[in-house]
Amino acid sequence: MDDFQYHGQELFLEKIPVQKIASEIGTPFYLYSYNTILNHLRVFTNAFKEIPHLICFAEKANSNIAVLRIFIKEGGGLDIISGGELYRALQASADPQKIVYAGVGKTRDEIRYALKSNILMFNIESTQELFVIDEVAEELNTKARVALRINPDVDPKTHRYIATGLKDSKFGFSIANAVQEYQLAERLENIDVVGIHKHIGSQITQTAPFVDAVEKIISLADVLKKEGIDIKYLNVGGGLGITYNDESPPHPKELAAELVPILSKTNYTIIFEPGRVIVGNAGILVTKVLYTKMNEGKNFIVVDAGMNDFIRPSLYDSYQRILPVTKPEASDKITADVVGPICESGDFLAKDRILPNFQKDNLIAVMSAGAYGFTMSSNYNSRCRVPEVLVKDDQHYVIRKREEYTDLIKGEKIPEFLNHG
Ligand SMILES: *Cc1c(COP(=O)(O)O)cnc(C)c1O
Repeated sequence: MDDFQYHGQELFLEKIPVQKIASEIGTPFYLYSYNTILNHLRVFTNAFKEIPHLICFAEKANSNIAVLRIFIKEGGGLDIISGGELYRALQASADPQKIVYAGVGKTRDEIRYALKSNILMFNIESTQELFVIDEVAEELNTKARVALRINPDVDPKTHRYIATGLKDSKFGFSIANAVQEYQLAERLENIDVVGIHKHIGSQITQTAPFVDAVEKIISLADVLKKEGIDIKYLNVGGGLGITYNDESPPHPKELAAELVPILSKTNYTIIFEPGRVIVGNAGILVTKVLYTKMNEGKNFIVVDAGMNDFIRPSLYDSYQRILPVTKPEASDKITADVVGPICESGDFLAKDRILPNFQKDNLIAVMSAGAYGFTMSSNYNSRCRVPEVLVKDDQHYVIRKREEYTDLIKGEKIPEFLNHG
């Protein structure tokens, strides 16, 4: 988080005091650093520069078209999960030949849209999906490039909601049936088998699960070769963790030190799908203290951002550092919960945290909010979704404006029969 630094009492992002942006934009809002995103991307791609590779940023981590544009301008690709994400990718002028498309529930319409857009490949998650893609490709008189998503049955040792490569997960094909499924795919007229895909989970803080999973899919590729099925791409997915609190995940260079020797023995083009590691620590959520209160001896800091704006603490019990935007003069601390305005007891940003003695109107930075922050936000409690702001050096740019009340009812309609009386 090098670009988030205190100068004196003030938290800066790059060369701007966060407080200055807040006074202009109002709160709450997401704030991203252009230079941090770019730096993280370059560190990742440099770590793997010895092997032919393509980095497909996992769009679901942060899908603002301005953020996508940063990757695209650097020559990166995108990993998408829906037709909507494809639309965003194309709006940001992504090269379709650098787009890979995963997800267990692709619809016929989404498949058609992706085929017409000529994306690089589908990462297929079931036999039925394979048949549907074959059919749609025939309809369009084209061939669909595919990789099968293989579930290597490796425990990523992460939160159970974000573990995706265990044998009882809904994702991909069990590695035990993989050869059979590949043989089936090979026989389909409108399918061009080009790769193997795996993605075992998110916020992984060790190298061993990556190494295990990569070794397993390389062995699979060897077996496939013997069966006459030659693939070109090995997609090793995303999932590298970041520091939220006291985790010490491997640096991309450390991961590369383990993976490059294994991967460089092969002739495959390696696809990576990092999300969180690129944008997670490149963004914060800025919120304001509305009220402080005490119930039965417990302190509450009520802020103007809630679980609809940032759901990670509620959904995953995630730890997010809470920092003052302006450090208070007094050094006294309190233990408090930081809670939002939503009518749910699960609406909190931090629990039982030792914090500065925040007062009404103080600004708070919720750290490490650049990934799975805005993209998971909603309008619950009819709250307008917050703006997203990108900082570069001493300039800031609103890359999504704050929603207004009219946005809340966009598309809604009262039927005629309810209009009388
Ligand atoms: C979510 C996802 C990713 C990105 O995961 P991170 O933990 O953010 O790196 C990559 N690939 C697939 C298929 C995903 O679903």
